Amino acid sequence: MKIICIGRNYVKHAEELNNEVPEKPLFFMKPETALIRSRLPFYYPDFSQNIHYEAELVLRICKLGKHIQKRFAHTYYDAIGVGLDFTARDVQEECKKKGHPWEIAKAFDGSAAVSEFIPITQLKNPEDIRFSLEKNGAIVQEGSSTHMIHDFGDLIAHLSRFVTLKIGDMLFTGTPAGVGPVKVGDKLELFLEGRSMLTLPVK
Ligand code: ZN
Repeated sequence: MKIICIGRNYVKHAEELNNEVPEKPLFFMKPETALIRSRLPFYYPDFSQNIHYEAELVLRICKLGKHIQKRFAHTYYDAIGVGLDFTARDVQEECKKKGHPWEIAKAFDGSAAVSEFIPITQLKNPEDIRFSLEKNGAIVQEGSSTHMIHDFGDLIAHLSRFVTLKIGDMLFTGTPAGVGPVKVGDKLELFLEGRSMLTLPVK
């Protein structure tokens, strides 16, 4: 299983980090060991002083595919959840400056939290999937799939030109504006269509 993540897929988030909006989807990967197993907290790592949350819609891939055409892309995922792409922002800024890869800022153990998945067929409005993140009970990020620069079909068509998608892979589809730091003692809670999906303490 692999975790593929999309960067800069919401205009306002790209702007808040002073990044250009990419013409093609920008992607990177996290290994399976990045995933936080169920009911474990997020443990603040010792190599960063500025860990950020990034709340994202996450697709679950249900079919093996390469060179997938956009019009068939919807048949390659069957369920959706919400996740957190934890990012060591201080380490990432260094990587960006030096032109280094992002793995030490993005792919470390515990850097991916994912809720349970719900079948796409159970969504109230598959054209406008809303999600949000609360930190200590206050909303810090709100997003809708309608605000994505590259929609699910574009993402899958683009990614599968380079990387074979396999059953069980997870696709983090980018974060909206409002990313920010976490600290030990915080409580993060993810919502999908208003329903609480995952509660995660920071330890
Ligand atoms: Zn992200």
